Amino acid sequence: MSSFNCEHCGAPCLDSPAGYTTGCEHYPPDVPKIPDIIRQCLIEWMVQTVQEISEDGWAATWYSGIEHLAWDAMHGKKIDGLHFYSTKRALRKLKEVSDYLGVWVHWDKKVGEPRSIPVGVWVKIHEAKGGRIDD
Ligand SMILES: [Zn+2]
Repeated sequence: MSSFNCEHCGAPCLDSPAGYTTGCEHYPPDVPKIPDIIRQCLIEWMVQTVQEISEDGWAATWYSGIEHLAWDAMHGKKIDGLHFYSTKRALRKLKEVSDYLGVWVHWDKKVGEPRSIPVGVWVKIHEAKGGRIDD
């Protein structure tokens, strides 16, 4: 199972540990559709929470590469600066919300602010970085 675009209508069908979170009439999603307002609030919460983690660890609103560090920490890697009890708790919730929505948040250089990105797209960006966070 992985994310794909419907071959009939082109709709993105996003896979997540909770099942397909988006779909279409040909491939109905596995999880109930999340109302747009709730989805938007959850994404804003994700951005705010990553910002708080960044502030706590680096006294910066969006420490360069924080989304990579937080992602690695969410998946069990030990990261200096992300060892606070409150941060660990926040990361656990971030992972649950990210899994459920099928998105992660990252710094979008084109718009100059954090935006959500489908997890499938994010993982490719993250892997291409090979753990480096220098830009
Ligand atoms: Zn379709």
